[in-house]
Amino acid sequence: MIRSHVQHVAIIGGGFSGTLTAINLARLSTAPLRVSLINCAYPAGRGIAYSTRRAEHLLNVAARNMSALPEYPSHFVDWLLTRTEYANIPEAELRETFMPRRVYGDYLRSLAWHYSGPLNSRSNVEIKNISGEVVDLIPETQGARLLLADGTTLLADRVVLATGNEPPADLPGATALSDHPAWCANPWIEWETKLPAAGGTIVLLGTGLTTVDAILTLLALDWRGPIHAVSRHGLLPQSHFKGVDVPDFPPPDVDLASLGLAELVALMEKHCERLRRSGANPAIIVDKLRPHTQRIWQGFSDQERQEFITRYSARWNVIRHRIAPSIHQNITAAVAGGRVAITAASITGLRAAGLKISVDLQSSDGTPSSLTADLVINGTGPQTRFSATRSPLLRALLKSGLAQADASDMGLKIAADFTVMQKDDQPSPHLLALGPLLRGTLWETIAVPELRGQALRVAQTLLAAAPNSAAAEAAVIEYCI
Ligand SMILES: Cc1cc2nc3c(=O)[nH]c(=O)nc-3n(C[C@H](O)[C@H](O)[C@H](O)COP(=O)(O)OP(=O)(O)OC[C@H]3O[C@@H](n4cnc5c(N)ncnc54)[C@H](O)[C@@H]3O)c2cc1C
Repeated sequence: MIRSHVQHVAIIGGGFSGTLTAINLARLSTAPLRVSLINCAYPAGRGIAYSTRRAEHLLNVAARNMSALPEYPSHFVDWLLTRTEYANIPEAELRETFMPRRVYGDYLRSLAWHYSGPLNSRSNVEIKNISGEVVDLIPETQGARLLLADGTTLLADRVVLATGNEPPADLPGATALSDHPAWCANPWIEWETKLPAAGGTIVLLGTGLTTVDAILTLLALDWRGPIHAVSRHGLLPQSHFKGVDVPDFPPPDVDLASLGLAELVALMEKHCERLRRSGANPAIIVDKLRPHTQRIWQGFSDQERQEFITRYSARWNVIRHRIAPSIHQNITAAVAGGRVAITAASITGLRAAGLKISVDLQSSDGTPSSLTADLVINGTGPQTRFSATRSPLLRALLKSGLAQADASDMGLKIAADFTVMQKDDQPSPHLLALGPLLRGTLWETIAVPELRGQALRVAQTLLAAAPNSAAAEAAVIEYCI
């Protein structure tokens, strides 16, 4: 555990995770502290998820559970109530609303402004925003020196890795298409400028949340050409629904963390079946597990984690990462009305076909087919094989042994207090990490209800100020569903 006093913290990544770590340092530090928040690629304070400018892109979590501060659960709703456009909405209704993600980005920016702007004179903490990409890190006696892509360097006592979600993984044939006008490798940058002439065919690779975003935008633009979405299972995300009380799940006498995968699956199937028979939505069982998911994951053996990923993760993701009911209705209507076609097939290759791209597919029974498109968008979700990371910084850390991949190769191996574990299995004297980078260690580590708690605990570790951590953790768990 990192304990010594720090004077300069560098945070790499200015999305939700990095920004909230900086804010928590400003809230908690009783001693003077400098914080450098270094960010590239997406707007600082917003990161990938909250930099969208499109009104149709909604949060997939209701406003009541999107506070950025663990000990202040109504903070986001209270902030919304300060805005005239929401002032006439009854608070109870506002709490259940799925707000536009760009509004959530505004909330994060205003929170960051409060703690880093010129009126922040009461805090001991000076937060400096730096625009640039960190590409390497060299250990020094008193910390580490960060190397930025523009050649500048920065010396810090402690470094936080908050580098977030990676762009989607490459697909077979994609490398040759990097400059092709009909190819969009990163769905989180504005791709509307690449749209073909009216009536052209769009193929969306993946059927998860990113593809839902793209379909919503195409519908908002009143796109009249064919829209195809392809994934191995062909399943679209499910809708949020009004929860029911399930008092006997999880059973109070069962230690979920020591159950093991097979018994856990049997337990879930039993309760799902009972709910199905009573006409209730069994997906509530996954919600009920949420406060326990990290402990369950950590109780699995490496083999059980691998089996979960191979056999159950696609289904889990469809149930767990649900979408706003209004969005679900729009997408379902578009599919039913023939505006969007969903195909269940593996993507076996991508080929340039003049100004178009051919997408080769194979169905589960081995039947080949192909789609030819005027625009192909890779919406297969963030790349998760950590050893294949394209981040120069993460590659450098793995190469130098300053960090190691977790056993499932989904992210970084960390200790319980978020200190990065080096290749020699010793805790790093200066590096901490949080956010989607911890997927392999925690599994449930990508959404705000988990990340706000992590950002607080990372700040506490940095300040070695643990006295209120138990209370904060209890608050996180209590309202994370
Ligand atoms: C499209 C989308 C929608 C989502 N919607 C929701 C939602 O509604 N509710 C919810 O709870 N969660 C949602 N999520 C989950 C999301 O992962 C988290 O809410 C959160 O935004 C993650 O923030 P982050 O800071 O960890 O990562 P990111 O948002 O990915 O931010 C990381 C930042 O670090 C920068 N960076 C990376 N490497 C370097 C480097 N070497 N040097 C400098 N900067 C670097 C990146 O460019 C980026 O700006 C969504 C995710 C996506 C992708």
